[in-house]
Amino acid sequence: MDDCIIIGGGPAGLTAAIYLSRYHLKIRLFDCGSSRAALIPCTHNHAGYPEGISGLDLLAAMRAQAEKYGTVREAAKVMGLRAIEGGFAARIGEREVRARSVLLATGVVNHRPPMPDALHDIALAKGQIRYCPVCDGYEVTDRRVAVYGTGEHGAREALFVRSFTQDVTLIAPDRHDLPPEQIEQLEDAGVARVEGPAADWALEDDQILLTVPSGQLRFDSLYPALGSHIRSELAVEAGARADDSGCLEVDDHQRTSLPGLFAAGDVAKGLDQISHAMGEAGVAATTIRNMLNAETPLWR
Ligand SMILES: Cc1cc2nc3c(=O)[nH]c(=O)nc-3n(C[C@H](O)[C@H](O)[C@H](O)COP(=O)(O)OP(=O)(O)OC[C@H]3O[C@@H](n4cnc5c(N)ncnc54)[C@H](O)[C@@H]3O)c2cc1C
Repeated sequence: MDDCIIIGGGPAGLTAAIYLSRYHLKIRLFDCGSSRAALIPCTHNHAGYPEGISGLDLLAAMRAQAEKYGTVREAAKVMGLRAIEGGFAARIGEREVRARSVLLATGVVNHRPPMPDALHDIALAKGQIRYCPVCDGYEVTDRRVAVYGTGEHGAREALFVRSFTQDVTLIAPDRHDLPPEQIEQLEDAGVARVEGPAADWALEDDQILLTVPSGQLRFDSLYPALGSHIRSELAVEAGARADDSGCLEVDDHQRTSLPGLFAAGDVAKGLDQISHAMGEAGVAATTIRNMLNAETPLWR
């Protein structure tokens, strides 16, 4: 039986792999190749890279570091997870792999606006579509910006973006659904409200264009605020507790409610950021090491 199975090869899973491999533990990392970090054209808020670094370059460097210390990494999707005597069994195709502990670092998937995938990906690469004002609000300073969403989430995002630029428009995917207090807050902040639905998405002159019932609009950047799918199913099916949104509940050592099962990164409740994912993974890995050592001393 291995010491730990890590599910996920994003910033959280790879950080945990580096730590656990350097603790001389026998680990195995599974990754189905869909890290949100891989979508980052260039991050400018991740400390240590004054000129920024692309998500793909950051992941490649982390993979090389993990492999240098002996991490076994498989490009495969884990399809099932269950608790067994003394640990867990993860199902990969027809195979079952067993370990004394598991770290789930499967992240989240953002819901996309209703535009063709190819257009979306070009817009994302050029910063015309952005998903994270915490990450890159600075880059839209004094630009013309839309937030595509409504309700509490859409209003909160629009008000957050307002501290970077005075030109913010909140576009409803259909009709706006906003309580009076939020309408008042948006009006106080000078955030424009536009009803959807939006169609005829296009890119032109470094701007994103869309047509709503009141006419055609163009922006330098648009932030979808449509929520995300939290990839916590494996842990929930194994018996771990999640909140209503699907985020795994963890204690301050990244332990889920199921003993031996840990979670780090976006899949756990917290700030969806690379640095946070890495910090949580360092805590999880060290707690896993200490738990295994308490069961059987890890002396060489
Ligand atoms: C466009 C964009 C820009 C961003 N910019 C920034 C930024 O500038 N700064 C910043 O700090 N953050 C940024 N973020 C957020 C950042 O990408 C995430 O917070 C970070 O990637 C979270 O890391 P993670 O390891 O938790 O999840 P992820 O990076 O999403 O990794 C999850 C991993 O789990 C794997 N996986 C999922 N299910 C399975 C399964 N069943 N079996 C095997 N593998 C599985 C996936 O393949 C993936 O490798 C941005 C996000 C987006 C979308």
